[in-house]
Amino acid sequence: MPDILVVGGGFAGVWAAASAVRALREAGAPHHSVTLVTPGNDLVLRPRLHEADPHTMRVPLDRVLGPIGVGRVAATVTGIDTVGRRVTTADTAGQELVLPYRRLILACGSRLVRPELPGADLLFDVDDIDSATALDTHLHGLPGEPVAPGRFTALVVGSGFTGLETATELVGRLRVIAAPHGATAEVRVVLVERAPVLAPGLGPGPRPVIVEALERLGVETRPATTLERVTPAGATLSDGAVLPTRTVVWTGGVVAAPLTALVPGARDPIGRLEVDEFLRVPGAPGVYAAGDTAAARADPDHLVLPSCQYAIPLGKHAGHNAAASLIGRTPAPFRPAPHVTTLDLGEAGAVSTTGWERTVRLTGAEAKTLKRTLTAQWIRPPLDDADELLRQADPAFRTRRTTPA
Ligand SMILES: Cc1cc2nc3c(=O)[nH]c(=O)nc-3n(C[C@H](O)[C@H](O)[C@H](O)COP(=O)(O)OP(=O)(O)OC[C@H]3O[C@@H](n4cnc5c(N)ncnc54)[C@H](O)[C@@H]3O)c2cc1C
Repeated sequence: MPDILVVGGGFAGVWAAASAVRALREAGAPHHSVTLVTPGNDLVLRPRLHEADPHTMRVPLDRVLGPIGVGRVAATVTGIDTVGRRVTTADTAGQELVLPYRRLILACGSRLVRPELPGADLLFDVDDIDSATALDTHLHGLPGEPVAPGRFTALVVGSGFTGLETATELVGRLRVIAAPHGATAEVRVVLVERAPVLAPGLGPGPRPVIVEALERLGVETRPATTLERVTPAGATLSDGAVLPTRTVVWTGGVVAAPLTALVPGARDPIGRLEVDEFLRVPGAPGVYAAGDTAAARADPDHLVLPSCQYAIPLGKHAGHNAAASLIGRTPAPFRPAPHVTTLDLGEAGAVSTTGWERTVRLTGAEAKTLKRTLTAQWIRPPLDDADELLRQADPAFRTRRTTPA
């Protein structure tokens, strides 16, 4: 029986497993086993899925967790019995396996909320590696499409964090694809936002920088507008406009992964499980939640946001605390570093803010360098290096906790 069972091979799950191993080894209790169950073989770097070549945005789990002896089950969890302390899994062949546990860490992430509207099946998104790869393949196929209005037009729906990063990045991606065909002038990116202002969730602090970047890149913006219908040749907007396009990307926000609903407990409006300061789920003994499945407190006034900035330290704390409770050690309360945000703005740079009021602290090339370091280096766990992984798995390790993502 796995002593500690981690569900999910994303940022929270990987760091939970590593942190649990670290705590067990430090306490001289390495005989306790840690197992991670997740359907894929890779940690998917979701923060980079709006970029070109999304199929490369992955890290092999076995090269991260293999060196520290974490067991891995390649399967999807389909049932959780928190009273009997066991989960039911199904592998790709449909083979069922029941895994008992002593401590369970739920780190199954979040998923995009997809709309119900005519033509919804024609929408693209960048929520997971398969859908982001489908968009990439589609974009590379555009030059082979008949020359017609809207061939290189992309419509991005939603100007939250993901919508802004996607729209600004698509300008460069489409130009690279169109250029060899002499069609750069055809590239057009349109961003629609339901709210009366752009980037409503990011607030007034960074908005001027964002608006200037969108203007510089030539991204057309349509606030107070929604998407009503999609066809293979175009999109109809709520103001009645019909936009010729073959590429509509939906970025309408996320909710906790469906599995979260199988654990008893209180939830926040996006389905995340409420947890105490040690990331335990009250009412489900032995169960911890981390990453995008956890509605943990960042401070007395704010819940964490679904982001790597929190998923990584949440994972480390959940892993540490699950191990600590097994071996009678002191748990570590979750006390994240001050809130920060770094938003990529494609070829227009980036913007980095600090605090919940999002005071701008870096813009342009400086912020872009920070963003590149974050997404190319700091969110990648070390490969084939047990010592370095365990060093970074310490919940007190500061780099990722003090760095905006
Ligand atoms: C395009 C995009 C850009 C982003 N940019 C940023 C950014 O710049 N900065 C930032 O901080 N955050 C960003 N995010 C958010 C960030 O990626 C997530 O907050 C982060 O991935 C959450 O980590 P997680 O481990 O909780 O979940 P995930 O990374 O979603 O991992 C969940 C894991 O659980 C597994 N799983 C799900 N269901 C089951 C099941 N039933 N059984 C077993 N396993 C299961 C999945 O396969 C996956 O391995 C971005 C997200 C997207 C999509």
